[in-house]
Amino acid sequence: MIIVLKDRITDEEVKNVKNYIIKTGARIHESEGTEKKILGIIGDKRDLDQMALEAFPGVEKVIRILEPYKLTSRKFHPKSTIVEVKDARVGDLEPVLMAGPCSVETEEQITDIAREMSGKGVKILRGGVFKPRSSPYSFQGMGETGAKWISAAAKQYNMSVVSEVMEISDIDVLYDYIDIFQIGARNMQNFKLLKAIGKTNKPVFLKRGISATLNEFLMSAEYILSEGNEQVILCERGIRTFVQYTRNTFDLNIVPMIKNVSHLPIVIDPSHATGRTDLIIPITLGGLAAGADGVMVEVHPKPYEAFSDGNQSLNYAQMNDLLNAWGIIRESVLKLRQQKFEEIEKNVSNYTR
Ligand code: PEP
Ligand code: MN
Repeated sequence: MIIVLKDRITDEEVKNVKNYIIKTGARIHESEGTEKKILGIIGDKRDLDQMALEAFPGVEKVIRILEPYKLTSRKFHPKSTIVEVKDARVGDLEPVLMAGPCSVETEEQITDIAREMSGKGVKILRGGVFKPRSSPYSFQGMGETGAKWISAAAKQYNMSVVSEVMEISDIDVLYDYIDIFQIGARNMQNFKLLKAIGKTNKPVFLKRGISATLNEFLMSAEYILSEGNEQVILCERGIRTFVQYTRNTFDLNIVPMIKNVSHLPIVIDPSHATGRTDLIIPITLGGLAAGADGVMVEVHPKPYEAFSDGNQSLNYAQMNDLLNAWGIIRESVLKLRQQKFEEIEKNVSNYTR
């Protein structure tokens, strides 16, 4: 439920409305529209009477929200969220590039990739050190040693680091080495991990589960926001379908759909979405044209020697090709983004009318 307050509501009137809500045990999420104040109500609302709320002095209208997600909903929070990571702004006009190996392998490997990627304008370096592998016999990641290497490499080239945590104890291990915590597809519904990450003060990169619906995806983000951490970046990384020629199926629909229903930024991961190097460029372009706020791509100097996911990693020359292709459509995409931003801005100010 959302309560839109009148322009000239007094402090006393606000207090009365809030007290009424708090008495039912529900939580209040306050949000300033451009003109008016909005109270979002979260929790069990069985005791809340819409008619009674509308009768309070100072209340303009009460809107029922049917979606189960609240804090992640654009209705609760009409303005788009921009997640700041050093000088990168995920969710702002310019889509953000994130690149790096699937796994951090050696100090030389990650330092070389950091140098190459920073030279190409990539601001966020990815690299897993705790690896969720489908087989227990596959490379499991370098752990804290790898975290030290990626942190040093990023520092040397003035980049930020995103790396995955697989369990709660990984949070403390990685905390000082990374700038963004990644929650992988397999852990999207690890609710204890989501709650723990929600208590931290670093941005979170939440990947969509392989068979997660839009509601499930946003409810997982809701877990993080409801613990107080609002810096969540969503990631579409492909879902499991009957299609067998690619590792997963990239769900392009979800990119504009998320923009419609949520204020959180959404980034695409064409590497995991396709599992094929040759599809990374077209899928990146499609996703960015559809409104994605950034792209995360796997890159390796010698993909054929990679410890993991070499078959979906670009080499440096292919990364150049991707950037060139992006350069061809960039101006047009930025124009479309600007239009969309203005539309949202208009909705924000119309919202409370
Ligand atoms: C990864 O980013 O390397 C990864 C394991 O991704 P996902 O959780 O999407 O499979
Ligand atoms: Mn990978």
